Amino acid sequence: MSIEQNLLAIKATLPEQVTLVAVSKTKPISDLMEAYEAGQRIFGENKIQEMAEKWEAMPKDIQWHMIGHVQTNKVKFMAPFVSLIHGVDSLKLLHEINRQAQKNNRIIDCLLQVYIAEEESKFGLDEDELNGVIQFITQNSEVYKNIRIVGLMGMATFTDNQNQIKKEFTHLKSIFDNLKSTETDNLQLNTISMGMSGDYKLAIDCGSTMVRIGSSIFGGR
Ligand SMILES: *Cc1c(COP(=O)(O)O)cnc(C)c1O
Repeated sequence: MSIEQNLLAIKATLPEQVTLVAVSKTKPISDLMEAYEAGQRIFGENKIQEMAEKWEAMPKDIQWHMIGHVQTNKVKFMAPFVSLIHGVDSLKLLHEINRQAQKNNRIIDCLLQVYIAEEESKFGLDEDELNGVIQFITQNSEVYKNIRIVGLMGMATFTDNQNQIKKEFTHLKSIFDNLKSTETDNLQLNTISMGMSGDYKLAIDCGSTMVRIGSSIFGGR
């Protein structure tokens, strides 16, 4: 199947409230353009340099999402254009995103990455750290006015055990629901980014509003 066929087949299965991020990391611009011409406008990349190169070369109505781990010293390279940063997992990083957003006269939307997997290797905040970050950002909303936390992002354990994955996604959804009552200028929770090629249907069943799909659209990497 072509990229266009893959994309349209996936989109046909997504409920209306679920946003599709086409994860195009490592793929050439010609592949991204095929998805673009099939109507896709949101692309996810995990390396800032690669995303910036693609942004420069491609149509300007594309929304670029950074889905990878972000190094603080590289935020400046995406601050002029990035539309959502999924993997925010420290106050230090939020501070730098706010600073660079200010320089660019923008408000940058962020998702806080929550640690839901059993594996040791995955990045993210635990629940206490998450609450701490949210408390700090909302209590200092006059300082942190160039960022907006719009939701949470999580990655399930890499396993075939569907029950395990379901448990982790459900956990993230419940954390999200518990946060939802508070709202400030810089905290407006409306997004749960969870689900990839292998588990996005399960993620949607568990309450995902944003899926990040790469190999099922563009093929293996
Ligand atoms: C690569 C990547 C994806 C997409 O994975 P696929 O299995 O190819 O769909 C989703 N989320 C993150 C954070 C990724 O790094």
